[in-house]
Amino acid sequence: MANQGRKIKVLFASSEAVPFVKTGGLADVAGSLPRALNQKGAEVSVIMPKYSAIPQEYQDQMKHIAEFYVPLAWRSVYCGIEKLTYQGVNFYFVDNEAYFKRDGIYGYFDDGERFAFFSKAICEAIQYLPELQVDVLQCNDWQCAMASVFLREFYQSIEACRHVKTIFTVHNVKFQGQFGDDVLSDILGLADNPTAAGQLYCDRVSVNYMQGALLYSDMITTVSPSYANELQMPFYGEGMDGIFRRRSDSLRGILNGIDVDLWNPKTDKMIEYNYSAGKMANKAKCKAALQREFGLAEDPERPLVVMIGRLTTQKGLGLVRYAMNRLMERGVQVAVLGTGDKDQEDAFKYFDWTYGDQMCARIAFDNALSHRMYAGGDILLMPSEFEPCGLSQMIAMRYGTLPVVRETGGLQDSVVAYNKYTGEGTGFRFANMNADEMANTLLEACEVFWTEKDVWKQLRKQAMETDFSWGRAADEYLDIYYGLHPEIER
Ligand code: ADP
Repeated sequence: MANQGRKIKVLFASSEAVPFVKTGGLADVAGSLPRALNQKGAEVSVIMPKYSAIPQEYQDQMKHIAEFYVPLAWRSVYCGIEKLTYQGVNFYFVDNEAYFKRDGIYGYFDDGERFAFFSKAICEAIQYLPELQVDVLQCNDWQCAMASVFLREFYQSIEACRHVKTIFTVHNVKFQGQFGDDVLSDILGLADNPTAAGQLYCDRVSVNYMQGALLYSDMITTVSPSYANELQMPFYGEGMDGIFRRRSDSLRGILNGIDVDLWNPKTDKMIEYNYSAGKMANKAKCKAALQREFGLAEDPERPLVVMIGRLTTQKGLGLVRYAMNRLMERGVQVAVLGTGDKDQEDAFKYFDWTYGDQMCARIAFDNALSHRMYAGGDILLMPSEFEPCGLSQMIAMRYGTLPVVRETGGLQDSVVAYNKYTGEGTGFRFANMNADEMANTLLEACEVFWTEKDVWKQLRKQAMETDFSWGRAADEYLDIYYGLHPEIER
């Protein structure tokens, strides 16, 4: 391929992407980073599974452009490729109804097979879709991790694949894709390749897809600089810390951005009253509307603390449960939106039932409601045990809802702690996994809310004026792409 004056071509593989299907932050990233990269002059396409959960209006717009058979150990499995261009980005959907025509997207007994298929299909697509001409394959999280391994082990002799450099991006090291070692012969077709098999074993009986990608990819990235450091520590590394330390020269942390057009209180159609940093009056109306909607006392003087996210241990919910009585005694209102572990859901339902007009828990995944909560809250609480990047705190700041966060991962990299001497800050931070420390910090924030109205307004303004767009992150990714292909002129 001639290298002068051409764009670098990136295939961005993800198991979810907004607006097609979303369970967490990965979908937001896959739905907005490629567009930002294209605006900067790269040519990024996205490849993802065609789930039946994708809304029909998008499925109707897809065009069938190719089909081939994917070798998966002893199987030869049908794979269709459907294409849809959305906001200038080409999305390629991997179609196989046996694997992806199901109610949910993860959590099936054969996930090891479904996502090994997806990973292999990515390699086949690079081979069979001439329009792709991939320079860089960027795989996100374990669901497509095996693509980096397959590419090196099975596709090196193929012209279209030989030149491809690989990046693996860790969005959450907690989910690694670990399966019994029977997958080596039954699915991956690597049982007779002792070198490859050796790289995949994480203990004597389990195979780990993410570990494969960490060892086979040319570069590793993760979603914040602090998380890149934390991954090298045993506490955060989930058994992979040794590999992250060994590969620290090839590891970069790039803080995610958010889609600032989608998340914009000035134009957001999902909120009743729009506002901006310069014209804040309507935020109080959003708060009153939210209090009404949740059956909370409609009182502007009560700080309304919102939490939006998966209800799992990762999110530091143990601290919130422990501190709930203390917060209620001080007259704080708390509203939670999320789904997750049953014991967490039950605990928050219990608080809802116990604290009547002061606490509300909505156990649901509801995008429109999340917009109303970002707009109507005063404070967003995010005391995560670990947080690779976290988008909620950035969205909250964009809506002038000040975050109270634990100093970890992307929370530490995106929230500037309030400093009462200099007046700087976009939120409040605490250091330790300690419920009293969290409650102290949250109540200090409430104290500012109650007694120093001007400071509160100024902090809100600073938060709303912070630039969380993808531009900066896109530049850093481009540095990596071109660094992997010095022969392509930038
Ligand atoms: P994670 O990726 O760990 O789930 P992030 O903070 O990075 O957490 O991203 C979560 C994204 O999902 C945010 O955009 C948040 O608003 C959204 N979200 C999480 N839970 C819900 C829910 N129950 N309803 C609506 N949106 C949700």
